[in-house]
Amino acid sequence: MDYQKLIEEVYDEIQKENPRGKVATYIPELANVDPDQFGIALVDLKGNVFGVGDYQTAFSIQSVSKVHTLAMVFHVFKSKLWSRVNVEPSGNPFNSIAQLEFEKGIPRNPFINAGALVITDALYSKFERPTDQISDFINELSGRSCVRINQEVKESEKNHAERNTALAYFLKAHKNFDNKVEDVLDVYFAQCAIEMSCEDLAKSFSFLANDGYSIFAKREIVSESHARRINALMLTCGFYDESGEFAFRVGLPGKSGVGGGIAAVMPHKFSVAVWCPELNDKGNSVKSIKALELLTDKLKFSLF
Ligand code: GLU
Repeated sequence: MDYQKLIEEVYDEIQKENPRGKVATYIPELANVDPDQFGIALVDLKGNVFGVGDYQTAFSIQSVSKVHTLAMVFHVFKSKLWSRVNVEPSGNPFNSIAQLEFEKGIPRNPFINAGALVITDALYSKFERPTDQISDFINELSGRSCVRINQEVKESEKNHAERNTALAYFLKAHKNFDNKVEDVLDVYFAQCAIEMSCEDLAKSFSFLANDGYSIFAKREIVSESHARRINALMLTCGFYDESGEFAFRVGLPGKSGVGGGIAAVMPHKFSVAVWCPELNDKGNSVKSIKALELLTDKLKFSLF
């Protein structure tokens, strides 16, 4: 399979069609990004990198980091984690407060904000220098020191933190949050403000395409069964309230972020990251989704 040719075809077709959306503005600093950037990187299981467009430009990975933090705590807490967070698609916006109230402080899944806050709270309890250790972990997965936390994005988000703060206090009221809200939010905003390129992001997801073993870190990151579970969660919950649509149209486990990035995996074949900042009204990148749809169409296979 000539992956380079494939992603170049995908890139060219999308640029010709040029579907547009809107850059996220609820984190003001994210609105300053050049909306015309678009890149695709695909990494096979031998570590070969195929890239097109702005695939080496660093961007704000935002919620894609929720997969990394989940992988960090999964083997620490094992099944105990699932008494604090459910594993059901949400069908509601990622920062919904109503759903958390209805479900008595147990978030629907680890990829909506409430669930990710529980995961970061768990991580905060176990790791001494959580923010540094998240960066170290992602650097290790990517095989090089690539992670940069954009302090402006972090501060911008901190200054508009009403909903996330409300979610965290709500979790605390339901005794599902152990640490100080401000301390955990500081780590959470740092992880969301991580910047890295499509190439490095695809590398950091490679272990999920490879039964939990990272060829870049040269070690098992999670067990094979945990890798399968993370992939199942990405397939059912990775795209806000558009997860069903993504599974239907693309058929790959993946996670999106409001920075416009998506990382996805084709188990036993490759990992891929796509980035373009303009989003649809569900918060997913218009071009990134379209690119992955075209990719699996052209490949004539997905998970299914
Ligand atoms: N930092 C964002 C928030 O918590 C992440 C949103 C996202 O990418 O889904 O609102």
